[in-house]
Amino acid sequence: MKLVSRAEWGAAAPTGSYTRITSTRGVKIHYEGSAVPGALAADHGRCAGHVRDIQASHMANASEGWIDIAYSFVVCPHGSVFEGRGLGRKNGANGNSALNTGHYAVCAMVGTSGITSPTDAMLDGLVDAIEYCQASGGAGGEVRGHRDGYATDCPGDDLYGWIQRGAPRPVGSGTGPAPAPPSGPVSGAPPFPGRILRLTEPLMHGGDVRTVQARLIERTWSVGPDGADGWYGEHTRTTVTAFQRDSAANGWPLADDGEVGPLTWAALWDRPVTR
Ligand SMILES: [Zn+2]
Ligand SMILES: [Zn+2]
Repeated sequence: MKLVSRAEWGAAAPTGSYTRITSTRGVKIHYEGSAVPGALAADHGRCAGHVRDIQASHMANASEGWIDIAYSFVVCPHGSVFEGRGLGRKNGANGNSALNTGHYAVCAMVGTSGITSPTDAMLDGLVDAIEYCQASGGAGGEVRGHRDGYATDCPGDDLYGWIQRGAPRPVGSGTGPAPAPPSGPVSGAPPFPGRILRLTEPLMHGGDVRTVQARLIERTWSVGPDGADGWYGEHTRTTVTAFQRDSAANGWPLADDGEVGPLTWAALWDRPVTR
């Protein structure tokens, strides 16, 4: 687990004392539910600052009266686990005092714009945080979403679906064997379109973009609420980046630049399905 302590991310001191807890029934998963800057996905150096921003916004929320960041932990797109209130302390995120006592609160840096779906590294980090709560914080085995028992969309449909599938680690992470890339030119890919598909201003649009989006969807990756609309927007770039990282983690090296060049194009068709 890549744990980032409060000191390491530069947490402000709490403005009151924590309520101690010794056990919980498990963990509840959250998302930010607001814009999460897409730039975070490409630059882990920004993640600590983003956690400081979350903490500052929580501590400035007069109606909630939070003494600190509300979450127990926050997980970034790169899989680091930032210590929020941490273990043995009641969180402030689950909706009310009973819910906050019942489960730890782990938040993913996923929002309603910018970064809108979890990366595989993030899912790995969430499992790291859950296991840490269980092994060292007295958490039981339940993994739930914020919306379980409280009226909210949190943690969003992608993360909630993952919870309902049992909150698994992504295939290919950890110690499992990584499939080897095939040898030789055995390509089932349609011809590369001849232009590199990427996020541009104004946005790229076309049948080639739609082809990539449809292929991502076919391989169970979300490209956003509009589906294969032919526009290479932020969501498509984020998903392509996630696909590239997932490929690299599964023995199919790709740069995670969020652009579809010949190598990523080929991998979209030829890489064995692992999720
Ligand atoms: Zn929540
Ligand atoms: Zn990060």
